[in-house]
Amino acid sequence: MLLYERMGGGAEAHEPGRVAVPDLSAAGPEGRAARTALALREATTTGGWTLLDHPLLTLDVAGSPAYLEPDAVVVHPDGGWTVVEIKSFPMIDGSADPAKVGAAARQAAVYVLALQRVADQVHAGTGRTVTVRDRVLLVCPKDFANLPTAEAVDIRKQLATTRRQLQRLTKVEEIAGQLPPGTTFDLRLADDGKTVTRPAAELAEAVEAVDAAYAPECLSACELAFHCREQARAAGAVESLGRGVRGELGGLRTVEEVLAAARRTENGADDATGGSAGAGVATACVPDADADAATHADAATDTDVPAAEALRRAAVLRAEALAGAGAGAGGTVTGGPGQTADRPGERAGGAEGVPACR
Ligand code: SF4
Repeated sequence: MLLYERMGGGAEAHEPGRVAVPDLSAAGPEGRAARTALALREATTTGGWTLLDHPLLTLDVAGSPAYLEPDAVVVHPDGGWTVVEIKSFPMIDGSADPAKVGAAARQAAVYVLALQRVADQVHAGTGRTVTVRDRVLLVCPKDFANLPTAEAVDIRKQLATTRRQLQRLTKVEEIAGQLPPGTTFDLRLADDGKTVTRPAAELAEAVEAVDAAYAPECLSACELAFHCREQARAAGAVESLGRGVRGELGGLRTVEEVLAAARRTENGADDATGGSAGAGVATACVPDADADAATHADAATDTDVPAAEALRRAAVLRAEALAGAGAGAGGTVTGGPGQTADRPGERAGGAEGVPACR
């Protein structure tokens, strides 16, 4: 009824008990996916309202099949298909948390793409064109109550984005082709099926043969997160700072490159040794004698002028703020035990009291 109210269009309203709910049970995911495809085909050619409860769909992701299970798919009397997403966050007066709605829309977009593949099969088999609707039905609790409410969500933007991302994914075969011959992640389990016999060092070597793209989000999603974080930090990779920061930094790939770019003055001279109040205060936080990083930063600033300029500007603002704070506090930070410039982690000299970056 909720779907008919929100997206029924001019279709005939269903009568209670007249909505077909086919049995989708089958052995294994492949069997369930095949059963779902058959049920969709039958419902489309039969007409009327049909509800597929937890169907199973497949989608090709980087050359490998992924199985997806939407909450429901509704087949309309005109043969159109609509994805239904059921969520537990509340919908208050017809609106819900935009971030959660956005996540649900992205999830539904993947289901729609998977359904389009089945729709193509139905078209090839029956000659009937099937429309997989780009508006999905989001069902949520109404005003924190134990009653459902629903709204149609337009997912055209999410569909375009997801389609583009899937096309860009590197195929698993291409990644495997770049690995050293014989690379395997086999644990070599003993006859009991539990005891791992492969040496940890050998397994770690195999894991490190694969490039990682660590991001803080990995911590909640991947068992290798601590390993990858350690590797990213050891390499000074800016990815460990988060995707947002990574995106802002353009071609600057390491923390050293970022710091080196920040300390360069606008005319390109290295200002790290200045040590005076003002810009020199902030720039002096850059580790000394990191010529290699500076060289890379030089190269990066040629191609990433906006990021480098933003960093230099941020360094100047930071220096001004610190200088102002220092002036307000009498120029030095000596307010208490351990707060002199001699304390480890603080910089002595022309910028007393300014904490070192690292
Ligand atoms: S933590 Fe997992 S997802 Fe993240 S980069 Fe490492 S292997 Fe990939």
